[in-house]
Amino acid sequence: MLCPICKSKNFKILYEINSRYIKKLLLNKSESKVNELIQIVKELWEGDLCNFVKCQNCSYIFAIPFIAGSEEFYSCFYSSNENYPVWKWDFDITLKEIINSSFNGKLINESLIDIGAGDGAFVKKISKFIDKKNINAIEYSEYGCKKISEFAITCLPTDFKALLKDEYKDKFSIICMFQLLEHISDLELLIKVINWISKNNSIMFITVPNYYARELYDSVKIHEDVPPIHVSRWNRKTFKLFFERNGWKFQKDFISDESYISKIKRFVISKYRFSIISNIKIPFIGKVIKYFYCLFVIPFNILLIFKLSNKKFGNSYWVCLRKIK
Ligand SMILES: [Zn+2]
Repeated sequence: MLCPICKSKNFKILYEINSRYIKKLLLNKSESKVNELIQIVKELWEGDLCNFVKCQNCSYIFAIPFIAGSEEFYSCFYSSNENYPVWKWDFDITLKEIINSSFNGKLINESLIDIGAGDGAFVKKISKFIDKKNINAIEYSEYGCKKISEFAITCLPTDFKALLKDEYKDKFSIICMFQLLEHISDLELLIKVINWISKNNSIMFITVPNYYARELYDSVKIHEDVPPIHVSRWNRKTFKLFFERNGWKFQKDFISDESYISKIKRFVISKYRFSIISNIKIPFIGKVIKYFYCLFVIPFNILLIFKLSNKKFGNSYWVCLRKIK
């Protein structure tokens, strides 16, 4: 296996994931669903172990085996009552950036695609500024796709490969991929599709989990990047290396600006989720134990709690790129 970004062979193992660890992410699912998902994962990995490694040359972090969740995995993973965000920080910053970009004063005629559009929170909002007929979405989950189609926005219930058709060639001037890139292992196919569907001088917005926040969590053995759901971790260097080699110029980036309290809350909840006691399902008593545990976590992680005050440790990372050829 070579690094998917720089082709180096020099890796360091950060952590190992097995099916026991994945079960921690599936607490809200029935036992039969959990067993089904674990079986799919074992087949994908051809075993029960996956390493998350860091390339010592370019700093890209990725899973070995580098295999993303299959269509079968996601259709089993997503439930019909999936909690999609109503509005998020990355939607907001992207919306402002699109409105402020000149587009010769004719934003209404621009064409936008949101790849991995959830239940359409972003495309619905942007349709106030861009004609609905020029907006497309791609969404795996049947529920999300139905919600978007009900709003009269074209949504394909498939993955991005479906865009490699003549009708999508040079079609879009704005491309959005919110929290999608970390789920994808076929990067060469992804960039082929992006370059196929985008016009010259197109603008692209991508968000991923924040590399530095995830690294900080790793230091206390909370591994939030769990394959085959998240198969990679990106930072400024790897974005530049991969996208600039493929015809896109890095424009700017931001780490999400969150309150200190919300960062502490997120950490405490994560710590609880991956603890042994999160299996306790007794009503009331389970809740009391949960709150005591959460209070207990803070003094034992005081150094990390202190570090979270640094702006570098926001939860998400936003990048803007422009097509140069
Ligand atoms: Zn590398």
